[in-house]
Amino acid sequence: SQKRIGLLFGGCSGEHEVSMVSAKAIAAALQMGENGDRYQVLPFYIRKDGYWYEPETAAQVLESGIPLSTEIPPVGSLWEFPQQVNEIDIWFPILHGPNGEDGSIQGLLQLMQVPYVGSGIVGSAVGMDKITMKMVFAQAGLAQVNYKAVTRAQVWSNPCVFPKLCDEIEEALGYPCFVKPANLGSSVGIAKVRSRQELENALDNAASYDRRIIIEAGVTAREVECAVLGNDYPKASVVGEITFESDFYDYETKYTAGKADLFIPANLPSEVSDRIREMAIQAFQAVDASGLSRVDFFYVESTGEVLINEINTLPGFTATSMYPQLWANTGTPFPELVHQLIEFTLERHSVN
Ligand code: ATP
Ligand code: MG
Ligand code: MG
Ligand code: MG
Repeated sequence: SQKRIGLLFGGCSGEHEVSMVSAKAIAAALQMGENGDRYQVLPFYIRKDGYWYEPETAAQVLESGIPLSTEIPPVGSLWEFPQQVNEIDIWFPILHGPNGEDGSIQGLLQLMQVPYVGSGIVGSAVGMDKITMKMVFAQAGLAQVNYKAVTRAQVWSNPCVFPKLCDEIEEALGYPCFVKPANLGSSVGIAKVRSRQELENALDNAASYDRRIIIEAGVTAREVECAVLGNDYPKASVVGEITFESDFYDYETKYTAGKADLFIPANLPSEVSDRIREMAIQAFQAVDASGLSRVDFFYVESTGEVLINEINTLPGFTATSMYPQLWANTGTPFPELVHQLIEFTLERHSVN
């Protein structure tokens, strides 16, 4: 019989718009190919302020590509979900960033006792928090850049603490370094800084996004990514490379057509791409991810070093996104990929 897939998109995060594009591509893919008639897709839209919208409105939002204004008074309260929530066989949360990729929605779906695509609570939360993620990667023996973790309180509350904090960061990491809110994605809130003044400004800005902030030593390297798919026996895709003219892979470069180029497979010695694939699976298992993840790396060509940058447990999933493209180039086309994600979800749920 047909399975009803609840496609959850939008969400309370800076990546709301990205989620809308990802969801549209997945909705289309679920109805395509030889498995197309096995699924009935019911979209649910989460507005930027957290209110849920039922499939009819959600479908219109998906079609229009324009977020619903939070000026419109919501129908119910935050915890009154649309009645169709009760009809879902499998949830497909395609929400990026905080409140979607970080374990919070996973906890809600877990309580509903309905299988959901992707990582559970721990994998999502650890993968989203860059400070926790790096501690887990270090424990797993994965090479990465030097970094320092600070809190908003250290940046904002005490004028005596802040200069000392900046001294310590300069001493430990030097310039350039990268200042990042610990829990975000799509490069939102990230700055590359080259001076004391830029460091101070970037810390202040990052503190407006998150209680926790990470500062990383800047590395000059090629940027390569690997897609992982599966549960207890995860598989890694071919490796892809991103190139761009801008200073770093910032929001504008990520989402403006023509500003970045993807090369799949990346032109790398096979020994290097094999090492990257192996590290991607280690990272996936270290954070306890399941279903899918995209693992991002720096490849320092001069030394042959591969440094892990991060894991994304709900990576961008538009038709042109790296994750589905990596799988397409590994022999799994987009519609087959979403079908496999559903199958892995059922597998994981049945053993829990
Ligand atoms: P995503 O959209 O992949 O979730 P994100 O918001 O989690 O991204 P990062 O991947 O941590 O952010 O960093 C974004 C980009 O900033 C990287 O792709 C890279 O271009 C640059 N960058 C980040 N950290 C470093 C570093 N330590 N050294 C050099 N470049 C870096
Ligand atoms: Mg990320
Ligand atoms: Mg991300
Ligand atoms: Mg990244």
